Amino acid sequence: MPEPETFLSLITGSFATPAAENPTVAMIEAAYEHHRINARYLNCEVAPDALGDAVRGARAMGWVGFNCSIPHKVSVIKYLDGLGDSAALIGAVNCVVRRDNRYIGENTDGQGFLTALRTVADPVGKAFVLFGAGGAARAIAVETALAGAASITIVNRDLARGSGLVALLSEKTQARADLAGWDRTYRIPQATDIVVNATSIGLFPHVEGRLDLDLDSLRPGLVVADVIPNPPRTQLIRDAEARGCIVLDGLGMLVNQGAVSIRYWTGIDPETEVMRRKLEKIFGV
Ligand code: NDP
Repeated sequence: MPEPETFLSLITGSFATPAAENPTVAMIEAAYEHHRINARYLNCEVAPDALGDAVRGARAMGWVGFNCSIPHKVSVIKYLDGLGDSAALIGAVNCVVRRDNRYIGENTDGQGFLTALRTVADPVGKAFVLFGAGGAARAIAVETALAGAASITIVNRDLARGSGLVALLSEKTQARADLAGWDRTYRIPQATDIVVNATSIGLFPHVEGRLDLDLDSLRPGLVVADVIPNPPRTQLIRDAEARGCIVLDGLGMLVNQGAVSIRYWTGIDPETEVMRRKLEKIFGV
């Protein structure tokens, strides 16, 4: 790298616990290096009772923003000065952005998913089946509904959590939302266009984890997306591919939510291929 024009870098980073296995720092810094952005990304292990101090520290040091991951996506809100529209709807923040010296909470998970999805399918007017009702599922459901999905069926074990998400979609978006309990093997309805796994099933180290899903209901041409970034080729992706579905792995979402964060913090639209290549190298794909 050439000598920077200033020795004061933009500071960004992440507050989470556990933090050690999160590859985001490598992906973001690959983009900073590629675009010669004089910025750093610090991956910080922050315990729940230290989050307030971490945010105050970031303010004191003039950080331009930071990501929040497990378990801080909801609890960080009380330390912020405001929320962007979709973060307010989703009720969770994964990206904090300094604007006019105020820390504003955004949620880039859903936008990252949508950008990745649009490389294989247009969500407008489509019928979705979404497994899960946790943080990732809420972000994906809200953004796909706002982007014009016709209907979203939430499939979740915990009915209270699932119906909370259905109520949110019905009250705040135009999409038709309904809930399917998940106490037996689920069959994808024939009229479905896009299936999304937004549960943590299949995440390392439980790589053989399988959704309780009737594989014969995965018809050729159905779009099947997984949020699991590690490993990218989950059991679901492999099963769906074997049945002729169009598949989308979780790396696309990870890369694109990171790209939105970089745009918020630096104003630069990063080259997502550089970020993806870095992750592929890390995950050995
Ligand atoms: P949460 O803990 O908030 O939600 C987990 C969801 O998975 C819940 O709906 C839960 O169901 C469901 N679930 C977990 N285990 C099972 C099981 N054995 N059977 C049925 N359902 C199950 O987690 P998040 O939403 O924050 O994260 C989910 C996944 O998304 C993680 O693996 C994470 O790595 C990934 N993710 C990926 C991103 C990317 O950029 N690619 C970004 C953000 C997250 P229930 O409510 O019934 O307990």
